[in-house]
Amino acid sequence: MKIPFVSFLPMERELDSELRQAFDRVFSRSWYIEGVEDEAFEKAFAEYCGVHYCVGVGNGLDALMLALKALEIGEGDEVIVPSNTYIATALAVTYVGAKPVFVEPKIETFNIDPDRIEAAITGNTKAIMPVHLYGQACDMDPIMDIARVHHLKVVEDCAQAHGATYKGRKVGTFGDAAGFSFYPGKNLGALGDAGATVTNDEGLAQKIRALGNYGSDYKYHHIYKGNNSRLDEMQAAFLAAKLPVLDKMNEERRRIAQRYMSEISNPLVTLPTVEEAYVPVWHIFAIRCKNRDQLERFLTDAGIGTNKHYPIPMHLQKCYADLGFKEGDFPIAEEISRTELSIPMYYGMTEAEISHVIDTINAFRI
Ligand SMILES: *Cc1c(COP(=O)(O)O)cnc(C)c1O
Repeated sequence: MKIPFVSFLPMERELDSELRQAFDRVFSRSWYIEGVEDEAFEKAFAEYCGVHYCVGVGNGLDALMLALKALEIGEGDEVIVPSNTYIATALAVTYVGAKPVFVEPKIETFNIDPDRIEAAITGNTKAIMPVHLYGQACDMDPIMDIARVHHLKVVEDCAQAHGATYKGRKVGTFGDAAGFSFYPGKNLGALGDAGATVTNDEGLAQKIRALGNYGSDYKYHHIYKGNNSRLDEMQAAFLAAKLPVLDKMNEERRRIAQRYMSEISNPLVTLPTVEEAYVPVWHIFAIRCKNRDQLERFLTDAGIGTNKHYPIPMHLQKCYADLGFKEGDFPIAEEISRTELSIPMYYGMTEAEISHVIDTINAFRI
């Protein structure tokens, strides 16, 4: 039995006619940027998240970067980010001219450890960017308390957590703004690159929209040195077709995760920890194993696709050599990068496929 790490086929088959209709609608209108599709999706996604404003942008990196830019974070400022995340989180900080300051996660949840944040705050710290990694919310109460006490902005990175909740409240509603990615593999994915920033602040939303549209508040009138980062009509139409089934697809991921959680029982494997009162959306199902590379080969030989999120922590990436870190500086992030293995998790996995993954992991010996 061959089980890919991820497959879009079951979802695409189910939405085939909706997606084709979306294409036809846009193509027959012959209007591709800034139009009714973008407007309609923004409204629907803001409603889904439970926020007042949504600004469609080109991708998830820009969604975060434009939020930081609109909050006037730049040269000389520091922004706290987790040491274990996809590099886009840190690059968003770098691109506005500020410095990313890494804070270690809790190894059980993989998410930023609120108890370690205050030690990283300096006179230059302007914001915290919690990342709801792998689809599980960060511990937002203490993070928001710290932000209030130290007068810091909060920009949530929700790229892996569309629809995840923390104590009954959706991620993306806690901070000053939040960035979402609609990269095809994300829980809500476009058929190309796309992203959005959400916020409850009207002025901030207007500024983000202007910044992503060449800094113009109306045509050929440029008030900022902006970027070109807009959600195009075609992607907005595809996203609007997929949004109504997001909850159903997340529910399906939770069902797969529940089977993994209750049936994987190999003492060599550590399962993720789900905090009480959190509802994750399982963008990634991350297990840990001291013999990770052996386990990966074992699964590959059994026809099971896997991935590592992420094999090299950001502080050891060549592009961040200028930050001057060395191995040992962030031992928890390093431990995760040495031991984490992501196993198949996607809408449409069959019971037999889930069972094959579970049985194979349980049969692994060193
Ligand atoms: C995917 C991702 C991003 C960036 O999104 P893109 O749409 O690829 O630019 C940012 N942060 C995290 C945590 C991500 O997983």
